[in-house]
Amino acid sequence: MSRTPQPSRLNLTALAQGEQVLTGSTPLAELARLAADVPPEAAPAGDIGWQVRAEFRARPGASDQLWLHLEAHAEVPLSCQRCLAPAVHTLEVDRWFRFVESEAVAEAEDDESEEDLLVLEPQFDLLALLEDELLMSLPLVPMHAHCPSQPVFRAGEDVAPAQAQPNPFAALAQLKKKAD
Ligand SMILES: [Zn+2]
Repeated sequence: MSRTPQPSRLNLTALAQGEQVLTGSTPLAELARLAADVPPEAAPAGDIGWQVRAEFRARPGASDQLWLHLEAHAEVPLSCQRCLAPAVHTLEVDRWFRFVESEAVAEAEDDESEEDLLVLEPQFDLLALLEDELLMSLPLVPMHAHCPSQPVFRAGEDVAPAQAQPNPFAALAQLKKKAD
């Protein structure tokens, strides 16, 4: 009997040697940086489903390289930038990563590599990678396709909706829109 691998302390070499697909689900609350984007009034989000597999690929004249494939699916409530109510967005990750032995190698090879390079560590934090990828797949301007209600602005409100934007990228996109 082998122990269930801990996704925050994964032995990728063993995963690749075992040729197994590792699946799991992680509560959104465990990914603090992503959870910070969820409006407090949103209904509780479901778990984030993910799946990884690792494999060695032979290279002529060199040692085998370890590759990791990550797939993930998440339904994350974000503040709609039009009506400010929570809008559930689907985030998908489907990506390959190649592992190298050190940060120096990653920097040297980064420019000529199309794939993403990561440094191989004995205990790899899959949840940190999962969170990074989900953060990168966030929409720049979260919005309902159809807002459930028209925005209501009461007189005397301190914060105008245009200033209540948590995402700097969203703010930038808004500025670009105005410039057009
Ligand atoms: Zn909306």
